[in-house]
Amino acid sequence: MTAAARPPLVLHACCAVCAGYPLVKLQAAYDPVVYFSNPNIYPRAEYERRRDECRRYAEACGCAFAEDDCGARAWETAIKGLEGEPEGGRRCAVCFRWRLARTAAYAKERGISFFTTTLTVSPRKKSALLLALGAELARETPGLVFLAEDFKKKDGYAKTAAIARREGFYRQNYCGCAMSIRQKPRE
Ligand code: SF4
Repeated sequence: MTAAARPPLVLHACCAVCAGYPLVKLQAAYDPVVYFSNPNIYPRAEYERRRDECRRYAEACGCAFAEDDCGARAWETAIKGLEGEPEGGRRCAVCFRWRLARTAAYAKERGISFFTTTLTVSPRKKSALLLALGAELARETPGLVFLAEDFKKKDGYAKTAAIARREGFYRQNYCGCAMSIRQKPRE
């Protein structure tokens, strides 16, 4: 399919590692704009490292890249009272919804009908929850369609990990927020 024939889609991406396979897969049918809306990432140097690598990968794939540089305050307000929750708990559900809502708003502002997220590629993220949140946001926003892709299916995580190895991506050992640093480190 030529680039002109592919409809635009806003792809929320949390880092280059998670964008690896989803971006390649989506490019077969869509013209993705990679949207970095992740004010949850702490500290700022880590945020910039993940952002810059994500931008480099998007541009190397021939995709547009946009940053939602909204600062951490609104996100911190959204998760207030949930700081003690374990990773995978209620704080993460709020965090997912917050970032997906920003992505939906960005798509709406630009007249782009489709949006989705790379977050489902991670084995640590609950795809059913992410897909339900995306569908809910699409219902709340007339004209928007959430592409319900569970990228971890059909060895999606192995494929994204292979791209990360090939590209030499930096691989963080915590999810992103300050709480996730303090909680049990990843493998
Ligand atoms: S652990 Fe990850 S998903 Fe959960 S609140 Fe922190 S940054 Fe968001």
